[in-house]
Amino acid sequence: MNNKLQLIEELESSVRSYVRSFPAVFTKARGYKIWDEDGNEYIDFFAGAGALNYGHNEPGMKKKLVDYILDDGITHSLDKATDAKVEFLDKLNEIILKPRGMDYRVMFPGPTGTNTVESALKIARKMTGRTDIVSFTNGFHGMTIGSLAVTGNSMKRKGAGIPLSHTVTMPYDNFVESDNDPLEYFERFLEDNGSGVAVPAAVIFETVQGEGGINAASMEWMQRLEKICREWGILLIVDDVQAGVGRTGTFFSFEPAGIKPDIICLSKSIGGYGLPLAITLIKPELDKWKPGEHNGTFRGNNMAFVTAAESFTYWEDPQFEKSIQRKADKVTKFLSDMIEKYPEMKGSLKGRGLMQGISSDVEGFSEKVAEHAFEHRLIMETAGGHDQVFKLFPPINIDEEGLQAGLDIIEKSIQEAVE
Ligand code: PMP
Repeated sequence: MNNKLQLIEELESSVRSYVRSFPAVFTKARGYKIWDEDGNEYIDFFAGAGALNYGHNEPGMKKKLVDYILDDGITHSLDKATDAKVEFLDKLNEIILKPRGMDYRVMFPGPTGTNTVESALKIARKMTGRTDIVSFTNGFHGMTIGSLAVTGNSMKRKGAGIPLSHTVTMPYDNFVESDNDPLEYFERFLEDNGSGVAVPAAVIFETVQGEGGINAASMEWMQRLEKICREWGILLIVDDVQAGVGRTGTFFSFEPAGIKPDIICLSKSIGGYGLPLAITLIKPELDKWKPGEHNGTFRGNNMAFVTAAESFTYWEDPQFEKSIQRKADKVTKFLSDMIEKYPEMKGSLKGRGLMQGISSDVEGFSEKVAEHAFEHRLIMETAGGHDQVFKLFPPINIDEEGLQAGLDIIEKSIQEAVE
């Protein structure tokens, strides 16, 4: 083993994970390419688990960031006003929210995805005076106690070592292909006062479950869920930490469903450049926290504000969404062809947009595909409770050539895994 990996093994806690799946020491990266210390070039179909939707070191954002630093721009400011924050808020509103008819206040919850989820759960409880939160099987919302309590993954929950309370987990969309209709079940559960179950404060869900197996909710399911929430005065929280910021083809993943969540959680690619940033979008009527009721040293990050403001310019061009969709269609066709060509893998197509994958019913198959892909210098993750899904997550601005090169490696890796 390489000395540097040895050092990590000796010094870093055993909870380290990705270094085990991708045993190399990485030194530089640009766009969809990443290099290790020996100069080997890899194609990145992992994109920082959704934190690098615009690829590595995107040139426009890099220039803005370098200029900002060279000009002694403010790095840390707590929540004081800075030019960088003003520009971020203005562009977010003008380029992203207003054109979509969205009227939301922007709250800075802390630096990462789990912070936005925690803030959403807190607001929901404070505003409704209720305790319980409904979430879904295989949902993933973060690793702190509140967000973990709404995460439907037993292995992750066991990491807490204690029972996680005040949450109710429901089956997700077409969870089992049977007569079970999770939303009908949810309604019955709400109506059955005899059960003594309290009306929850909120429902939290991902439109496409990123970690839980790229399970995509149907548009109709999301609309029905919204309707139930409205009828019962339950707040609807969309966790768009992974599926948002263009990953599914539109800036917000729920846009095609036409729903209007009360609270939207964003992180990962909202900063554009891979710098930590999280925001919670809340409907104005929910904006009732007094100054200081939710604080934190790293709420907002001026360097991420600079890169985020630049990243929004992608969305000024209506062709951008179309280009994501074109690439998504290519991925769908490729994966469908693979499922047909290699029946041995017992695969089914998952996801939408540039968040797709194949779920294999053959134990260990998807992990094997990801391992072979790494040998051929493509970085790709597995997802799902049993790692049964291999997950294609290229940067959303990848060019056709890069996409094709990645798909070619995946086909080769499937072939090898079948043999
Ligand atoms: N929500 C979703 C949907 C996620 O995918 C993740 C991270 N994978 C989180 C929340 C938590 O984000 P973070 O790891 O930045 O705390």
